[in-house]
Amino acid sequence: MMTEEGTGHHTEAPVKPVSLEQCPALVLNADYRPLSYYPLSLWSWQDAVKAVFMERVDIVEHYDREVHSPSFTLQLPSVISLKRYVKPARYAAFTRFNLFLRDRFTCQYCGSGEELTFDHLIPRTYGGVTSWENVVTACSPCNLRKGGRTPGEAGMTVDQIPFRPTAYELQDRGRRFPPNYLHESWRDYLYWDSELEP
Ligand SMILES: [Zn+2]
Repeated sequence: MMTEEGTGHHTEAPVKPVSLEQCPALVLNADYRPLSYYPLSLWSWQDAVKAVFMERVDIVEHYDREVHSPSFTLQLPSVISLKRYVKPARYAAFTRFNLFLRDRFTCQYCGSGEELTFDHLIPRTYGGVTSWENVVTACSPCNLRKGGRTPGEAGMTVDQIPFRPTAYELQDRGRRFPPNYLHESWRDYLYWDSELEP
């Protein structure tokens, strides 16, 4: 069983301790690109440390803290890379976040960015399925206005024909929507870092 400890620095000002649960490792493929962007490939510190000991990953960057066991001390990894290259998925996972991202977080009927929900182009009552091609981002007012009708019946048009995005297309849209939390050591490995620089 490992215990956590600081790195032994003695500072005058009290430093707010960060829990180990808030120290995930960014996982890079063997080519040093994130294994996945959406969701961002992050492993818990336990999984990261385990993978280090199983020699499945290399440590690229680390946090300013250590974990200890009776037999070893390890600086907690903040960025790790797989030793063996994994072929990335061609298509993005069909998730709520990814669907919003494809539609740039805007209602596909009126362009609003408020009160976003999902709308089935062909309503489920007509046999419409929940898929990339039949679901679009819609604001509540537009969703309400459209009701259980097709866009044609409701006299509404969508901004773009909904499609199944490739992982690349989604990454491209993601440049403007970085995750809420980025550890500073991850920045160099995420494609959008240059976009965040002032
Ligand atoms: Zn709308």
